[in-house]
Amino acid sequence: MFWTSATVGWTNGFPAERGVTDGHVKTRFAPSPSGHLHVGGARTALFCWAFARGRNGQFLLRIEDTDQQRSSDEAVDGFQEDMQWLGIDWDEGPKWKGCGGGDSGPYCQSARNDIYDTYLSDLLDRGHAYRAFETTEELGAARAEARKAGRPYRYERPEVSAEDETAWLAEGRPHVVRFAVPDGSITVSDTVLGDVATEASEVDDFVIRKGDGSPTYHLAVVVDDELMGVTHVIRGQEHLNNTPRHVLLQDALGFRRPVYAHISLIFNPDGSKMSKRDRDKALRGAVREAGLEAPPPDTVDCKAWDAWLESKDVQLGLADATALADAIGIELPEIDVRDFRRAGYLPEVLVNYLALLGWSPGNDVEQFDSDYLVEHFSLDRIVKSPAKFDRQKLLAFNLDAIQAMPDDTFVDRLRSYCEEWHPAFLSGMTPEQFDVFARSNKERSKTLADPVRTGMFFIRSASDILWPDVKGVRKALCKGAPCGYERLEAIRPTLASLDGWTADSLEATVSAWAEEHCDGKLGSVAQPLRVAVSGGTVSPPIFDTLAILGHDEVMDRIDRCLANRLPEPSGT
Ligand code: GLU
Repeated sequence: MFWTSATVGWTNGFPAERGVTDGHVKTRFAPSPSGHLHVGGARTALFCWAFARGRNGQFLLRIEDTDQQRSSDEAVDGFQEDMQWLGIDWDEGPKWKGCGGGDSGPYCQSARNDIYDTYLSDLLDRGHAYRAFETTEELGAARAEARKAGRPYRYERPEVSAEDETAWLAEGRPHVVRFAVPDGSITVSDTVLGDVATEASEVDDFVIRKGDGSPTYHLAVVVDDELMGVTHVIRGQEHLNNTPRHVLLQDALGFRRPVYAHISLIFNPDGSKMSKRDRDKALRGAVREAGLEAPPPDTVDCKAWDAWLESKDVQLGLADATALADAIGIELPEIDVRDFRRAGYLPEVLVNYLALLGWSPGNDVEQFDSDYLVEHFSLDRIVKSPAKFDRQKLLAFNLDAIQAMPDDTFVDRLRSYCEEWHPAFLSGMTPEQFDVFARSNKERSKTLADPVRTGMFFIRSASDILWPDVKGVRKALCKGAPCGYERLEAIRPTLASLDGWTADSLEATVSAWAEEHCDGKLGSVAQPLRVAVSGGTVSPPIFDTLAILGHDEVMDRIDRCLANRLPEPSGT
């Protein structure tokens, strides 16, 4: 009844990389839309895109939403938005802001069931597939039995007579469709990993149609890659185990075989897998360190908090995790493209860095733009070994890119970033104030989030500023004779009556005052001023800061600082 074959060869595929004719390459990125676009997925998309673009080929986006329970429209939108932010545009696929279209759609698998059914029927008719009627309980029992006997579980192909099958179908018995794996060995000729052989006996008769009538990933991906004319499948090594199944299906259906390139996984520097769980791990550590027993206000609700602390398997949603991180004052490890966007990385820098995860152009070239990537990207420079994600290196790249940017560009990009992620911060300043603020911050910024973090005090009103009793603040305000508070009292009238409140006039006035009253030590008065107006010891340059805040606000903050003196430490 079942089709069998000897060794499945590699003869009917597309030509390998060097033989590819210009203009005939078609790659695809095929995400399953749940959650957000992970950096690993973004790297896959980038490699596929660069490979196609560098060969005048086509790049397509296909949404693999066969698992409807886990897929959502928001996730699809988010993936597309993140791809466009990175500059990865697609020729074919869902239509979205100027990308997409094409003749091989629909490009969402959930809309292609009729197409998959045609191929399923064909496989059933020709004996390459069969209906399987075991219940979940029966399969579970067989698995348990194998475990008890200490042997690996293997699905046993059942012997079912034609009469029984007809009767069971007539009574509407639930069933799946399985692919009848032929005997022999399957060799996947991978461009990165070389030949990878699998014995057919290691591959169970896998399900190709689920009980609810929808296709599994294996069938859908094989049918779509063929019908959409995909020539090169570049994807993560986590799919390597699936590829023998795909090859078997291609052969049974008489399809062409794409060129495969399985790229390495991405790990944290400590060798652990880079996953969304890293966020929860970092947060749990910080909560423990801070000795927090209850969630800070406006963060996680108490019930979710308990469940989250009790089990490492429970993960907080992004909004809760972010609120908690902000409240505790830690930065979350970035995992998804969205995290990097929010953390103020530049898209061109992330693209540059992602390209180096498992690929290199050689000759010690490390910093480049996407044109360079497109021109130089090739499959034969992809490395087999796992890639390590080094945030410090990414941060250093981001710093370099910001410092190399003209000041005007930095102002514009910081403004766009704030519009998207910190609108309240932006609207807390006039455009003129924002301009001065951005320019005075460029030099110290590693990310676009840095100025927002250190500049939050600009948009707080004087009455919201607190002067924490921490070492640096105490030193600036309480130490010395005269101490910072006394310096503030002394300079107050000079500032109050200053005409023309600009950074230059402030610098001239305060410097002259320091010359006269502090033996020329500007810091003796500048640091108390900084702490008085910002609540901390780090701020953008002090005279820009005073100029942006304006006369009245500065006076207000000095007065409140003087009125709320830190208590004298006991014993002094
Ligand atoms: N939909 C699969 C995923 O998101 C990718 C499938 C493939 O690249 O073949 O992991």
